Formats: sequence, structure tokens, C-alpha cells
Amino acid sequence: MAHVDSLQAYAESVAGCTRCRLAQGRTQVVFGAGNPHADLMFVGEAPGFHEDKQGVPFVGQAGKLLEKLLAGVGLGRDDVYIANVLKCRPPGNRDPQPDEIEACESHLFRQIELIEPTVIATLGNFATKLLSGRPLGITRVHGQEQPTMLAGRRLLLYPLYHPAAALYTPAMLKVLESDFARIPELIGSAMPELAPEPAQELTLVATPSPPAEQLGLF
Ligand code: SF4
Repeated sequence: MAHVDSLQAYAESVAGCTRCRLAQGRTQVVFGAGNPHADLMFVGEAPGFHEDKQGVPFVGQAGKLLEKLLAGVGLGRDDVYIANVLKCRPPGNRDPQPDEIEACESHLFRQIELIEPTVIATLGNFATKLLSGRPLGITRVHGQEQPTMLAGRRLLLYPLYHPAAALYTPAMLKVLESDFARIPELIGSAMPELAPEPAQELTLVATPSPPAEQLGLF
């Protein structure tokens, strides 16, 4: 119960964040939503128009697709936790800028620390590059789970195409569906495989973000 309170308290503290320029144009901070005890966490890019209005991540068309994909593996939104790299909407849904990601990333790392997921599915390039600390694009790494240390914990990182990119590209949707189908197996395998946790320092990924032009949904 204590960590639910901590997550809620942290969400409340982020609601007034003005660390970057995106504070000026937002309707509200979109912190994240879902099960605070989730084994599976999704990390997308940034809130869009509908998310900014409603204060909830993935509520537009991409959100509907995410829900459909979740239902396909027997999960609902309440079983998982969904967040984004950026908590405020970039104007006109433009790409996140490196300094915005740098300003906001500690909010995401704190969320991970509090939720303690065993699998994090990164949706698209921005989340994948930030959390893997590697510059490889999503086309190269989607569907390939990577054991990693994040926020002081060992977990499985599982890069996926961003649902927004798959919405209008049937071939990409097929790949996303097939990558999604492996999620239950990964959640099942992650716990015993990652259980022995060697004593290590708290590790926050601190790889410098690549220039914005190298990033993108795919
Ligand atoms: S995007 Fe992140 S760092 Fe920038 S104002 Fe919003 S919460 Fe703060």
C-alpha cells in the first residue's frame, strides 16, 4: 500500500512540473495510468491531443489499438501500467526534443522504481533508445527482449513498434501483433530468470539522448 501512496504522491508532485518548455502549452501533465503493482509496464513517446485533454495516456486511436492488442493476450488496461517518456504534449504532436527528454526522464525512472515491473515494453524509438541506452532503431530491435538494469532493478526490456505507427501500415501491424503475442511468455519467464539480484549500485540510464533527427516512430 505504501508504494501506491508514494506513486500517487509523486504523480501529484509532477502535476506542477515546469522543468521544460512543454509546461507552457499543456492542458495538464499526463503522468501515467494503470495498475501500480503491474508486472508489465508500457512506455510510449508523449501525450497527444486527446491525452492532453483527458490526462490519461493512450486514449486516442493508438490507445484503442493498444487495448485491442492487450485483449489479444488476455490483458486489460487495469492489468498493466502505461506511461510516456514525456509527460506533457509537444505542440502539434512534434517529436520530443533531446533537452525535453533529459528534463523529463527522471520522472519516468522514478515511476519505474515505484512500480517495479518485471517487463517494460517500449513503444517506438524514443522510449526504446532512452531505456536501452543504445542508438539502435526500433526496426532493428523490435521483438528482441533485452535483460537490463533500470532504476536499480533487473528487468526485461521488450521493444515494440509504436501503435500509432502501426495504425495505417498493415505490414507493421502484423509484426506488432506477432511481437505482442510473446508478452505472456516473457512475463512468465522474467520473474525466475531475473530473480537473483546481485548487489549493484542504483543504475539510471544516463546515455546522452541522440539528436532529435535520429529519432522518430520507426
Ligand atoms: S514534459 Fe516533463 S519535464 Fe517537461 S514540464 Fe512536463 S513533466 Fe516537466
